[in-house]
Amino acid sequence: MKDKTILAVGAHPDDMDFTSSGTIARFIEEGAKAYYLICTDGSRGSSDPEMTHEKLSQVRRDEQLKAAEILGVEKVFFLDHKDTQLLPSQLLQEQIVRHIRMLRPTMVFTMNPTFYYAVDPYGTGMSTINHTDHRAVGLATMDAVFPLCRDRLIFPEHEKEGLLPHKVSELYFPSYRHEHLVDITTTFDKKLKAIEAHQSQYDSFEDEEKRMRERAENLGREKGYALAESFVRLLIQD
Ligand SMILES: [Zn+2]
Repeated sequence: MKDKTILAVGAHPDDMDFTSSGTIARFIEEGAKAYYLICTDGSRGSSDPEMTHEKLSQVRRDEQLKAAEILGVEKVFFLDHKDTQLLPSQLLQEQIVRHIRMLRPTMVFTMNPTFYYAVDPYGTGMSTINHTDHRAVGLATMDAVFPLCRDRLIFPEHEKEGLLPHKVSELYFPSYRHEHLVDITTTFDKKLKAIEAHQSQYDSFEDEEKRMRERAENLGREKGYALAESFVRLLIQD
């Protein structure tokens, strides 16, 4: 992983920590450099009647910075779009392309743009509807990786600022299915600590820990890993 750079693009503070931080922490331990780009201000994710948008946005920013420090992420960039209003717009594409051209990642992690809903994905009887911001960030990031960041005539203003076209080699979307499995046994504790940092997002950390551990154990079983994360992994041709 030496000389490899990771860019993880999430919609909300906590997205990349819940979905991908075991793998990102492992790659960092193996020598990669990692950066986070968080696209919304996370200002709606609260049921606390005393909470305001401004207060929650600052709380969630601080939680994300703390989690990133636990994982060894170099820097977190925030775009501050309004929570629940993220669209895969040209503005968002340009902002993601700008960060790709600036940071020049080998690997990009983001949310899965094809994931709309799942009927009982974890065998608990409950279904999942994927958050609209998650789909938007996944789609805009996939488009940014290919073709938008590769061609110099797309967002040509970047070239004038010294930001040159770039080719990303690998794109990762988290998956609840058994796909590309990564052994996160040695970094699962870091993942839990990173999730624990997002205190505004859970009532009981014990319940959260139990849920994350069960999922990671189920994913790992097939390959004989104690704990795993699963991804759709796209290797992108030069
Ligand atoms: Zn989210």
